[in-house]
Amino acid sequence: MSYPTHIFAGNPFDRGDQERRDEELLKKMVRLHNARILPFHRLMPLVKRNPHAELAWISHEFFDDLPEEAGEPKFLGFNEERVPHFAVDITKVDDPSGIAAIVSGASFEDGRSAATDVPAEQSGILAQARSNLNWHATHRFCSVCGTESRSQRGGLMRACPNCKTQHFPRTDPVAIMMVYQGDQCVMGQTRARSTTTFYSCLAGFMDQGESIEEGVRREVREEAGIEVGKVTYHSSQPWPFPNSLMIGCHAEAISGEIVVDEGEMSDVRWFSRDEVLLALEDKLPGVNIPGPIAIAHHLIKSWAMKTANV
Ligand SMILES: [Zn+2]
Repeated sequence: MSYPTHIFAGNPFDRGDQERRDEELLKKMVRLHNARILPFHRLMPLVKRNPHAELAWISHEFFDDLPEEAGEPKFLGFNEERVPHFAVDITKVDDPSGIAAIVSGASFEDGRSAATDVPAEQSGILAQARSNLNWHATHRFCSVCGTESRSQRGGLMRACPNCKTQHFPRTDPVAIMMVYQGDQCVMGQTRARSTTTFYSCLAGFMDQGESIEEGVRREVREEAGIEVGKVTYHSSQPWPFPNSLMIGCHAEAISGEIVVDEGEMSDVRWFSRDEVLLALEDKLPGVNIPGPIAIAHHLIKSWAMKTANV
């Protein structure tokens, strides 16, 4: 059985655990003539589209023109040729068009739409960089004592100079599950999408002190009032908006009656396998399901086409 490598997964870099612990080496590496740096403005990566969409890497020379408060580069890792790659947040540059112009035909683009157009492995790099830069932008101060902390290990840690606490980048696990029973499955529509025809898998953030199976069962009980027995892991997907890890499962229902959580969901329904197969071809009236960018698409498809081990 083969599983898809999802968009935002498949990052090919060696993240250089040893090298990133050497601050002096990092400073030298970013100034190497072949070092490649990906700028982000307001979390939008620089992307070029001539002739194909690609992340637009630039060299360190543009640093010299940056205002002092612009972000310091974060180390992403090495490619196969051991070329060091970095990302830098230039949100503090009011007009980034001069930096975009370094690469012909490049512009700062929304990460979600860029991810579906660039080569698959570059979407993984985009995910790593976007989540890391966002974490630094939103975690400047020590959560223990309030002192401004410092980025270390090329961005994989922040250290507080006052109380010495070490802070690590945050990833929020989300359980997402295709609930099924025989030839029927459950999909729902969130309140936020109540004016659309969009239906998808149920999903929710994992709680602390909870296994994945327990998180799946709790979320399905809360959102749909359905009891779940067997939970089967399918695959996972980094989702860098801002820093989630989607944990995809199939969940076998052991009860049938749906009780919708009306605070969160505008509708939750049983669908037949035939209906889902039509929806996958965009031929089910009044129902749209997620496209291949989302793990939900692959959970739905693998159940409907009977390729999942459930
Ligand atoms: Zn502190």
